[in-house]
Amino acid sequence: MGKVTGFLEIDRRDRRYAPASDRVRHYKEFVIPLSEEATRDQAARCMDCGIPYCHNGCPVNNQIPDFNDLVYHADWQEASINLHSTNNFPEFTGRLCPAPCEASCTLNIEDTPVTIKTIECAIVDRAWDNGWIKPQPAARSTGNSVAIVGSGPAGLACAQQLARAGHEVHVYEKNAKPGGLLRYGIPDFKMEKRHIDRRVEQMIAEGVTFHCNVKVGVDVTTDKLLADHDALVLAGGSEQPRDLPVPGRDLRGVHYAMDFLPQQNRRVSHEPIGTNEPILASGKHVVVIGGGDTGSDCIGTSVRQGALSVTQLEIMPQPPVKENKLLNWPDWPLKLRTSSSHEEGATREFAVSTVEFADNGAGAVKSLRCVHVDDKFKPIPGSEFDLKADLVLLAMGFVQPVHDEMLNSLGVEYDARGNVKADTRHYKSNVDKVYTCGDMRRGQSLIVWAIREGRQTARAIDLDLMGTTDLPS
Ligand SMILES: Cc1cc2nc3c(=O)[nH]c(=O)nc-3n(C[C@H](O)[C@H](O)[C@H](O)COP(=O)(O)OP(=O)(O)OC[C@H]3O[C@@H](n4cnc5c(N)ncnc54)[C@H](O)[C@@H]3O)c2cc1C
Ligand code: SF4
Repeated sequence: MGKVTGFLEIDRRDRRYAPASDRVRHYKEFVIPLSEEATRDQAARCMDCGIPYCHNGCPVNNQIPDFNDLVYHADWQEASINLHSTNNFPEFTGRLCPAPCEASCTLNIEDTPVTIKTIECAIVDRAWDNGWIKPQPAARSTGNSVAIVGSGPAGLACAQQLARAGHEVHVYEKNAKPGGLLRYGIPDFKMEKRHIDRRVEQMIAEGVTFHCNVKVGVDVTTDKLLADHDALVLAGGSEQPRDLPVPGRDLRGVHYAMDFLPQQNRRVSHEPIGTNEPILASGKHVVVIGGGDTGSDCIGTSVRQGALSVTQLEIMPQPPVKENKLLNWPDWPLKLRTSSSHEEGATREFAVSTVEFADNGAGAVKSLRCVHVDDKFKPIPGSEFDLKADLVLLAMGFVQPVHDEMLNSLGVEYDARGNVKADTRHYKSNVDKVYTCGDMRRGQSLIVWAIREGRQTARAIDLDLMGTTDLPS
């Protein structure tokens, strides 16, 4: 345990943001790290509980009390080794994870959990700065070869684990660069893409081969991949967006969030935006439909592009500002969450449903007809209202993986929600040699869950190919 009386003496302090008026002028990260001394103080607040609920709250089971203790004692290098023993990419989660660990922290009963995510990020950033993170190529090759479709966090974690176990690994990605939603969905202001590039370099040095601009099922057949490799992993994400089929849906100016966000990420990294028409919020009244992470990212991007106004609509009622600890802790509570993008100037409306998009007379959207709904989503008579909009972004989540050439040609079985069916022990589909993990298996989720599933799939494959495995579960 760090400092025995730490939690009594030291207040919770977390990273701050650069002021909104400054940060909306650019697309760079704006989180200001704590000093080394302040981070060690925060680690000293960990009580090393007999039952570490935080450890259980973390989907990759980061050994949180252990690395807190190491940070408190300034043994940063050992803390990095400890952290990497459970998480391949702590710099992703240290920036992007919603931190269910902090909801589970015993000190959260008092609303002052240990700043676990900040400490995690400080450990890995320091490790990179000091050159402690190096490629770890396998000592010998097993002679087996594995193909992985998709280079999001699930595919990357699976690839790194398998390469370190000595397998030849080939990652196939339809986009120009690896990273999945980390690169093309999540805006640079939440995570700059240099973090992905650095990991990809590390993985190439560990023997992973990336085949970008290759769409499996179109540019290469699944039959060929199955013939050339000993196992095939489907880590293609959950890319079918939820639609809003109301009158006016086809008007110009009504787009899926994932038609809008990747364009800006590509502009930032000087990649061509593709054949799609440019979608820009500059000088427009923007309405974002959907209240989750994707909706938040649309707000932050629209504000940076110079939107005149941004309104976010959520069909659910406004959740309470504070949860009932006795009912919720140590589980993830439903409560009002205000993201950095919300703080940058969006109006939020809850319990609102969109009935229709109105035409400006030239085939483009000019407004939304909305209605307030009750807690059963039934429209409240007389509560209709109109909202001006030149750009509408649909950010209502993703329903399932796209059932495209790849999945159809394989003939994989789906679960009731349309995800590729596999259990969380073997991660194996109904098709011989074919495994699946991440959002493609579990439906839209979180980076930390994708990393967990990628790691566990690697273990399942190593066990199947070798009869035994040293990879952690
Ligand atoms: C806008 C947005 C913001 C988000 N923000 C957060 C956040 O802040 N924190 C968080 O924890 N989670 C966030 N999420 C969720 C998180 O990004 C996903 O849960 C996670 O990326 C899933 O990882 P994955 O590897 O399973 O799939 P993905 O990241 O979706 O990667 C799948 C990859 O497979 C490729 N692919 C698919 N089919 C083929 C094919 N046939 N051939 C070749 N390649 C193919 C795709 O191009 C893609 O690169 C966000 C999601 C979105 C959309
Ligand atoms: S990965 Fe997420 S849940 Fe796990 S320790 Fe980091 S912030 Fe917490």
